[in-house]
Parts: sequence; C-alpha cells; structure tokens
Amino acid sequence: MSQQIKAEKISTPESGYLYLGTTDSYPISDYDGNHGASGRPDFLYGSDTGPRVVEFYAPWCPHCKKMRPHYIAYAQRVTKLVNETAPGQEIKFYAISCVVHSMICKDYKITGYPRIFAFLPGQHTPAMDVFPKMPHPFELMDKLGLYVDEDTKLRNNYVPESESLADRVVSLMIRGEMSHPRSKRDTFHDAVLSFNFSMRNLFTTHGPLSDDASKTLHQWLSFLRKAIPRQLVEIHRVIDSVLNDFDSAIKSEENMVAILDRFPKPVRSDWSDSCTKGQSGMGYTCGLWDLFHIASIGIVEWNTNAREDRSKAVSAVDAGNVLRDFIAHFFGCDECRTNFLKAYDSCELDRCNRLRPTMITTAWNEFPFWLFEMHNAVNLRLMREQANEETRTLTEEDERRSQWPTRLECPGCFNNTNGSFIKEAVLQHLRIEYWPDDQITQEYRKRLGETLDGRQPHTMLFAITLLCGLVTLVLLLGYLVRKSLLRRRRNLNIKAN
Ligand SMILES: Cc1cc2nc3c(=O)[nH]c(=O)nc-3n(C[C@H](O)[C@H](O)[C@H](O)COP(=O)(O)OP(=O)(O)OC[C@H]3O[C@@H](n4cnc5c(N)ncnc54)[C@H](O)[C@@H]3O)c2cc1C
Repeated sequence: MSQQIKAEKISTPESGYLYLGTTDSYPISDYDGNHGASGRPDFLYGSDTGPRVVEFYAPWCPHCKKMRPHYIAYAQRVTKLVNETAPGQEIKFYAISCVVHSMICKDYKITGYPRIFAFLPGQHTPAMDVFPKMPHPFELMDKLGLYVDEDTKLRNNYVPESESLADRVVSLMIRGEMSHPRSKRDTFHDAVLSFNFSMRNLFTTHGPLSDDASKTLHQWLSFLRKAIPRQLVEIHRVIDSVLNDFDSAIKSEENMVAILDRFPKPVRSDWSDSCTKGQSGMGYTCGLWDLFHIASIGIVEWNTNAREDRSKAVSAVDAGNVLRDFIAHFFGCDECRTNFLKAYDSCELDRCNRLRPTMITTAWNEFPFWLFEMHNAVNLRLMREQANEETRTLTEEDERRSQWPTRLECPGCFNNTNGSFIKEAVLQHLRIEYWPDDQITQEYRKRLGETLDGRQPHTMLFAITLLCGLVTLVLLLGYLVRKSLLRRRRNLNIKAN
C-alpha cells in the first residue's frame, strides 16, 4: 500500500512523469535517465536493440493523460498475444517524458504529444507510427518482423481493417466520447466468444434436447450459416460440424462439447474491454448483442445475394421468429429472456406490422432496424432502473446518452429538427459497425467521415460567404469612387462654365 502511495507521488504531472514508479503501468518502462550513455537511453540509441514501441509524451498534455490507460492496455494486449502466439519473441514498450528528457525528444523532432513509434531491431529511426492508428497486435508484429502463421491469426479472428475506423475509434476515445474504445475486430471477437459460450451452454438437463429445442437449434444454426460473414470462420466451422453431426450433438452435452472441442480454443479467451469494462469474465450478453446485430445485417446481405432465387431468401418475420425462439430456449439470462419475449410477443415497437413475410427489399431492412430499436429500448430501461435504484430522475440528456450511436459517432444518424433517428443513416451505420469492410461499407464510412469531420461543408460555406462579402465590398467601393468622380467632373464643368 505504502509503495503504491509512493508510486502515485512519483508519477504525477508535477513530477514530470506519467508512468514511472506506478504499479499499474506494466509492461511500460518510463525512462528515468539512470541508464544509457550520456543520459540517452540504450533502447533508442544503442545498437543491440530488439523490436520496441516508444511513446514520447508530456505529462501536462490532456491527451497524453487520457491516452495513458489505453497505451498500457495496448501494451498488455500485445505482450499477451506475443507470448501466446510467438513464443521466444518479444516486443518491449517504453515511454519518455519530453519535459524531463527534452533533448531526446528534440533528437526525434517531437513537436506534438503524444507520439508513439515502433522501431525495428537495431534501428534508430521509427518503422511505424503507432498512434493514432493503434494497429492490431498482429499488424504490429508483422511490421516488426515477428513471425505468426496465418492459421493462428485466423483462429484469433484477425480481420485486417481500414485505417479510418481505427483512427475514428481513437479520436472518439481521446475526445472522451467513448470510454472503452471498440474496433470492429473487438466486435467480431466478442461475437465469436459469445457464440461459443452459448453453444457450450445449450443443455440445461442431462438428457437430450427436447424436440422443440432441437428444432429451434437447427433453425438457429441454419439461419446463422446464411447470416454470418465468411470471415468469421470459427463460427462457420462449428455450425458446419454441429449440423453435420446433428443427431449425435443433440443427444447430450458431452457429445456437443466433444464436437466443439475439435476446434482449438481462441487464444484471446476474454471478451474485449468494451464488453468486460475491466471485469474479467464478463461480456457474454454484450457479445451476444454483437452476434445478433451482425446476423441482422448479414441476413439482408444474404437476401440481396439470393435475389435470383427468392426461395433462398429469409423474410424479416422468419428472421425475427428464429431469434425469438433461440432466446426463448437457450438464453440463460432469465430477466433478459422474459423481457424480450414479452416485448416480442406483444408486438412492442410495432413489431407485428414491421417484421413481415414479404420479400420486398425494403421490408428486409426492418429486421436490423427493429433489432437496433429493441437494443436501445433495453439500454433505456437499464438506465431508468439504475436511476430508480439511486432515487434520482432521469434528465432528457441522460435518456439521450442511453441511446446508441451517439451524435458524435454518427452525426448524420439524427434528424436535426426533432432529434429522432434517421432510418437510412442508422442502417448504414449498423453496416459500418457490424459488417466486414467491403466496398459498400467503405463508401458508407467515407460519407460518415465527411459528416464527422464537418469541415468540408463549413469551409465551403465560409469561403462562399467571404467571397460574396468581398464582391459586395468591391462593388460598393466602385460605386462610391464613380460617384465621387462624377461629382468632381460636374463641379469642374460648373467652374469652367
Ligand atoms: C436480447 C437481450 C436482452 C437483454 N435484456 C436485458 C434486460 O431485460 N435486463 C438487463 O439487465 N439486461 C438485459 N440484457 C443485457 C444488457 O442488454 C447488456 O448486454 C448488458 O447490460 C451489458 O451492457 P454493455 O454496456 O456491455 O453493452 P450492450 O448493451 O451489451 O451492447 C453491446 C454493444 O452493442 C453496441 N450497441 C449498443 N446499443 C446498440 C444498438 N441499439 N444497436 C446496435 N448496437 C448497439 C455498443 O457498441 C455496445 O458496446 C439483455 C441482453 C440481450 C442480448
């Protein structure tokens, strides 16, 4: 305890350091000036260096302070993954205070904070900017020359994604709009873990699944086989194996688990920070929502691709019913199940009119949009329950905060007049969040980026206003000059006469 108090005292903005001596900053070493030739650290200037990442920070800089827990979490995640997937190899993490060691930061021409660079072994110039992109650990490992085979990457749900999303996540995080940064990889990872968890917990008795439950399971897996993107190989492999061996799988938990055990367990066994919120082992319901949203977008994709053969398409009402039955039979959270079934069966949110058997394209979109609204309804209910417990009344602002996405995440999702959601924009946003980066998603993201930036239209408007102002001014000046010339000429004429 006393050591912790001491550590906190050492590492304050006033002391000049953010990490030095703190107990929570492992595996980051904050350079203290006590090693290396002439006050310059070996890990930057030495010749015998390994792959490493170095943050240059200023302790007074608010972004550096906000970045601190994220840099630590990132370093821990990379270190864990390197240990698990690239045994015998290592990436080290360092930090340098540019207030205390300004000459080093000058050597590296650091003009803004924080800067985080990755260095190749033995090299003194950075190989890669780690901030703000925060690349996936596998991308970092690749860049720094650590070897991991492709199969291991696949087993860890490694889906390369565009830079823009990672940038956006970090920028939201830095601006304090997102307490738990979330990338699409996290979303997919959480969905896979929850899918696996649900498959391992289907049986509530020793005996075989009832006929009803077996039928529901078959329908659910057949639905997911269509709706889950091919990139989530882990889910597809399990679905294929269980469906191939279905009669045996439904006989007992042992049989089911034996099938599931044919596949290696994911190396990253915990849900992402955005789902666990720092509580290891938590995250199942969060990942389950992810799985549902991915499938809701996926089934529209499937239908679009099955346009030629309408018999393969799945209507919005069929999709809703499959999800409902899965929750009824297999979702272990009693309260969640009861509330969901009550809302579904009593046609809340106009479900009975919205989820229809028709095969019109626009009707398919009702399924993901309805699910999004159901999720927001749960978010609001949870916030109200919490407020009740704390005997406080919710403000409009509180209620707005319970809704997803926030205005900053998707400014274009809101109607500026009444603050309601715009369906088309929300559907695009759902695709950006829950579907792999294909061309359509990229286009949606580009549009979102433009709205998010907000600079383009404003800059244009400003330029046009300025131009109009200038033209008016020139015309006015011209008019005044002309008027005064005419008057002078008239005066001269009068004098001459
Ligand atoms: C079907 C279902 C019903 C549930 N019912 C209850 C209940 O009645 N009572 C209860 O206490 N808990 C219920 N839960 C659990 C609860 O909804 C949360 O999962 C849990 O509280 C964890 O919350 P979270 O903050 O991690 O985010 P979650 O609400 O689990 O959301 C996961 C992620 O989804 C994204 N997201 C949030 N809202 C939306 C949205 N509207 N559309 C798309 N994406 C979104 C966010 O990125 C978020 O991080 C239910 C869960 C499920 C799956």
